[in-house]
Amino acid sequence: MTEIEALELLSNYRDAKLVKGVVSKLHQQITRPWSLMEICGGQTHAIMKYGLDQLLPNEIELIHGPGCPVCVTALELIDQALWIAQQPNVIFTSFGDMLRVPGSQGDLFAVKAAGGQVRVVYSPLDAVKLAQENPDQQVVFFAIGFETTAPANAMAVIQADKLNLDNFSILPANVLVPPAMHAILSSPDNCIQGFLAAGHVCTVMGYWEYLPITERYKTPITVTGFEPLDLVNGILRTVTMLEEGRCQVENAYSRAVTCAGNKVAQKLIKQVFIPVNRNWRGIGTIPKSGYGLRDEFHHFDATVRFDTGKIKRSESSICIAGQVLQGLKKPFDCPAFGSSCTPQSPLGAPMVSSEGACAAYYRFGRK
Ligand code: SF4
Repeated sequence: MTEIEALELLSNYRDAKLVKGVVSKLHQQITRPWSLMEICGGQTHAIMKYGLDQLLPNEIELIHGPGCPVCVTALELIDQALWIAQQPNVIFTSFGDMLRVPGSQGDLFAVKAAGGQVRVVYSPLDAVKLAQENPDQQVVFFAIGFETTAPANAMAVIQADKLNLDNFSILPANVLVPPAMHAILSSPDNCIQGFLAAGHVCTVMGYWEYLPITERYKTPITVTGFEPLDLVNGILRTVTMLEEGRCQVENAYSRAVTCAGNKVAQKLIKQVFIPVNRNWRGIGTIPKSGYGLRDEFHHFDATVRFDTGKIKRSESSICIAGQVLQGLKKPFDCPAFGSSCTPQSPLGAPMVSSEGACAAYYRFGRK
């Protein structure tokens, strides 16, 4: 995409003039190269879709982060999901974008095609309802997502507990942003100098957890939304901090985010979940980076209810998703990008998900 094509694309956006004004400020202000990471795949897609990367000063390198829950869900969890979904008398429920994510052997679509009861739901509470309606079937919900989906997952467990449902369980797979930021910043290969934090996660969790990260790693963070104007504002604020030698957390998404976040949702999460070590696909285990069920809700854990311990796994040897998700490589650095790996025939999760970096680069022509 050229700069002219990007400007044409942007002209369809209602705040195009304001975006151009912010971009022009950036061009005036910047004095040296800076590498910024947008945490969330939704931000990556908006940047690509509106061609913002083509309009920014050359000094700014945007690096996509690990913020796509579909992409980072560990292969062993996908394989556990596939195995559970194939068991008799099981209705396996999931958000739609997990159905095409490849496990070691196939995906949930293939299980469904072979006769498995795999159903797409829009909320974990739909899965609870299914369990009520099908008392002779085990209903399992694939509880993926960042902190944003955790309150609804917690609510489903509480609801199932209230209803005394012994045929409902979840496959716990929630992942958490701050431990991933710690892992990125403490890596010897780290090149990130500033973050655009994901606005929707902060709507739930606030941004108080980011204050010690900024303090410890001397890295500015700006809470940023998903509109083109939100993104360029977030970039301007982060670059301004870097240019001025300031390391703070700034909120460029104040119409939705406060420092404390949604305390009711956080209380709900705490009531049901406890931080546990979690394996991130392609990255490895990050301490306390996921949510597991508290002891009192242990019986709603599908890995306990089904014997998933012996499931073997093998990752594609070609896929470099781990390096892509840590910002160490771009999708087009992968030898399979656009050839043996496409959205129609994905080898790794970042090419499947609507938030995946490889899918964004492919869809919006960054080849
Ligand atoms: S292009 Fe495909 S194989 Fe390569 S890193 Fe992305 S998902 Fe993996």
